[in-house]
Amino acid sequence: MPRKNLIAGNWKMNSTIPEAVVLAQEISNRMERDWLELVDVAVCPPFVDLKPVKSVFEFDRVDIAVGAQNVYWEPKGAFTGEISIAMIKNIGCAFCIVGHSERRNLFGETNEEVNLKARALIEADITPIICVGESLSVRDGGTYLDFVTAQVRAAYAGMDAADAARTVVAYEPVWAIGTGRTATPEQAEEVCAAIRATVSDMFGAEVAESLRVLYGGSMNEGNAALLLAEPDIDGGLIGGAALKADSFIQIVKEAC
Ligand code: PEP
Repeated sequence: MPRKNLIAGNWKMNSTIPEAVVLAQEISNRMERDWLELVDVAVCPPFVDLKPVKSVFEFDRVDIAVGAQNVYWEPKGAFTGEISIAMIKNIGCAFCIVGHSERRNLFGETNEEVNLKARALIEADITPIICVGESLSVRDGGTYLDFVTAQVRAAYAGMDAADAARTVVAYEPVWAIGTGRTATPEQAEEVCAAIRATVSDMFGAEVAESLRVLYGGSMNEGNAALLLAEPDIDGGLIGGAALKADSFIQIVKEAC
């Protein structure tokens, strides 16, 4: 069965509640309902915006999913400042980003923590969007495939095939995030194919063939079509271009 593209917007630490509601409403207004038969769409706003954004989509009866950008794996308790999986589940999140490079690099998130988060999310029936990707120095050093596939193996440690089938991977080269420097379609395809091969090696060809592997890193309305045309790229995780309804909608259209 062909894989359905997924376009997910990562709003990062942008948008107060009123700003988030305006952006969600613009996205809803401009989204052709037919496109949503062909492509899955999600937005991942900051925690405080999740409920208001979800309410906009529910009120409009538009099938745009909502996801969180991070979560903590423990169910509850003395973890000041953290948000639990039950909390985002209760809001209706279908997705949660884990292991974004900004979390890894600015907040010290480790491969082990990414694995704990992904496994706890799967148990709660929320799809983790597992982010992997190399820095510029790793790319220039030529070991990027080893680096990224090691991140993939660590993220999936202890999972079985059924668990792995309920995940999404996003390949996000750190040197392309927020820099305006996009990976070429060939560069992105090479790594996305290696990710799929690694998942095939761990869990079998059937899981690998159904797995959605997204590309993220300065994807925009101008470069999305070529990236999405690659056989192992099944959508995009979009940062900057997800903050403007116009560009986000154009990318969704390209993904149909
Ligand atoms: C991201 O943060 O996941 C991302 C891909 O950002 P940008 O599109 O701005 O590079």
